[in-house]
Amino acid sequence: MAAGYSTLEYDAALGERGSRQSHVASLLKELTGAEDALVVNNNAAAVTLVLRSICEGREVIVSRGELVEVGGAFRIPEVMEQSGCLLREVGATNRTRPSDYRRHISPGRTGALLKAHTSNYRIVGFTGEVSLPELVGLGKETGLPVIYDLGSGSLLRLEPYGILGEPCVSDCVAQGVDILTFSGDKLLGGPQAGIILGKEKLIAEMKRHPLARAVRIDKLTLAALEATLRLYRDPERALGEIPTLRMLTETREALREKALRLILLCKDLGGQLSAVDTESQVGGGSAPGRTLPSAGVAVSPRALTAGRLEERLRGLDIPIVGRISHDAFIMDLRTAEEKDFPLIAESLREILGGEKE
Ligand SMILES: *Cc1c(COP(=O)(O)O)cnc(C)c1O
Repeated sequence: MAAGYSTLEYDAALGERGSRQSHVASLLKELTGAEDALVVNNNAAAVTLVLRSICEGREVIVSRGELVEVGGAFRIPEVMEQSGCLLREVGATNRTRPSDYRRHISPGRTGALLKAHTSNYRIVGFTGEVSLPELVGLGKETGLPVIYDLGSGSLLRLEPYGILGEPCVSDCVAQGVDILTFSGDKLLGGPQAGIILGKEKLIAEMKRHPLARAVRIDKLTLAALEATLRLYRDPERALGEIPTLRMLTETREALREKALRLILLCKDLGGQLSAVDTESQVGGGSAPGRTLPSAGVAVSPRALTAGRLEERLRGLDIPIVGRISHDAFIMDLRTAEEKDFPLIAESLREILGGEKE
């Protein structure tokens, strides 16, 4: 795609101008059951385009428990302001009920009901949120579109693999949500992109909006996204070939064996390496309180401190990044590629062997 020609905006079957979105949209419809789809630059752009095109100048109702900040200055209240909508927050930080939304719905003034998935923080204790089906029911009753900003958005059900609390996209579509937005590069495991799914009529308004051009997706990204989505046609294949999914679903048993293979490659470093059980943080801590049982290698250097070893590995031309725990340098092997093991072994040998002399 990068080097040659493509039929990006040409419909070869009809011999006329086509849409760059058509291939990816039909895949998304097939995989999720959505009526229509539109992809843009990232999910922040997706949320902005959705709000601007269907709610500008009107109030959007959001629960106080879901006023998310995701980093990089993306905050629901501020995105709302930038999109020309008025935020109407309802409920309390820890509890929101359907009646809280209902009380603030006003014909003509309200533009939509928005739900945001809160993956990077957790409210525990005396809590309650309005579920998506409840919100969809309220939307139907009042004629208002229901928008769900899913953030990560997984095309597969990940609970069986111990990834809890991340809703599956096709379940949300089946529950009747009007608009769904999520990232291409979080749980989906594809390139940076924002995916909008939903009702044909609403997506058509977004496609026509002037902002759509400003947040348009690039052709290389589109090709990468299409390739990723194609893998999802066969879920087994997606789990095995999309790195994010492969790494997230790898079992502790498999990782223990991986650790032993790395140790075997370093057997000349005699006893400085050992296999350890670890807990992997999902998304570098973006899913708080949720870890995966994992395994890795602990290095306890004889001739230098673990801190010095960590620094030296990080300073290599190809940096090797781990963490320190109990005076040992720990490499959780969940995200290490086996093809890089010879390089890791060589780097360790250079530093540990070198310091011994
Ligand atoms: C990550 C996230 C976004 C922003 O997505 P990007 O693709 O990084 O722009 C928006 N909303 C929620 C709820 C998110 O988790």
